[in-house]
Amino acid sequence: MLTKTPLQNLYETLGEIELSGATGGQLQGNCLFCGKSNHFYVNPENGGWDCKVCQDDDGEPRKGYVEQFLEQLHELRLEETTNRGYDNLSKQRGIPADTLRRNLLVKAGDDWLFPTYDVKGKLNDLRRWNSRTGEMRGSAGQELVLFGGEKLAKRKKPSVVFVCEGEWDKLAMESTVRKVAEFKNAIVVGVPGAAIFKNEWVGSFKGHNVYVLFDNDSTGSNLTAAAGCLYMRYFQ
Ligand SMILES: [Zn+2]
Repeated sequence: MLTKTPLQNLYETLGEIELSGATGGQLQGNCLFCGKSNHFYVNPENGGWDCKVCQDDDGEPRKGYVEQFLEQLHELRLEETTNRGYDNLSKQRGIPADTLRRNLLVKAGDDWLFPTYDVKGKLNDLRRWNSRTGEMRGSAGQELVLFGGEKLAKRKKPSVVFVCEGEWDKLAMESTVRKVAEFKNAIVVGVPGAAIFKNEWVGSFKGHNVYVLFDNDSTGSNLTAAAGCLYMRYFQ
């Protein structure tokens, strides 16, 4: 069996479809948008895709690249996600439903998808949270971003910024600071999972009043140290 490319994995995992070889090096599977069997084609090298049947909202053939797939899949799942779904996740995670809604989390089967954006605000991945194992996973090949980094990139005025560890902490902190008048305009960002703090993120904190809130464990202290070192190196 041929090894799957990261792009094939992305389409299969997020789209919950199975793709198999078709002519011309393309992959073929069922279309998650219209449900038609074997009408969804993907180029496993560049991520170009199209459905031979369905149309988008403008009546054009539904097609695109990874970016359009993520956007249209997110839109589809958003329409399917009910208030009851948000309420259940809220109970499970202890995060208010309106925070989950505002962050545009969407339900996908038993799992949830957590959208992340690049600094320009373009959707760059839907990280899947497995409700059974509690694991959160990004798609292979998609860049790891600072959650909320797109808001930080836009903020010119010196502001309070809270840096949390992981998606859920970011959401929990966000719901908390909203209740405090002093922090009404604060920005909350999250680093993705354990022990990742990228050099390139440091510049976006310049001029802001930054509070680092990582876990009180070894990963958390390593992260704090790494963030501190990077910050000093950058601004000295
Ligand atoms: Zn279709």
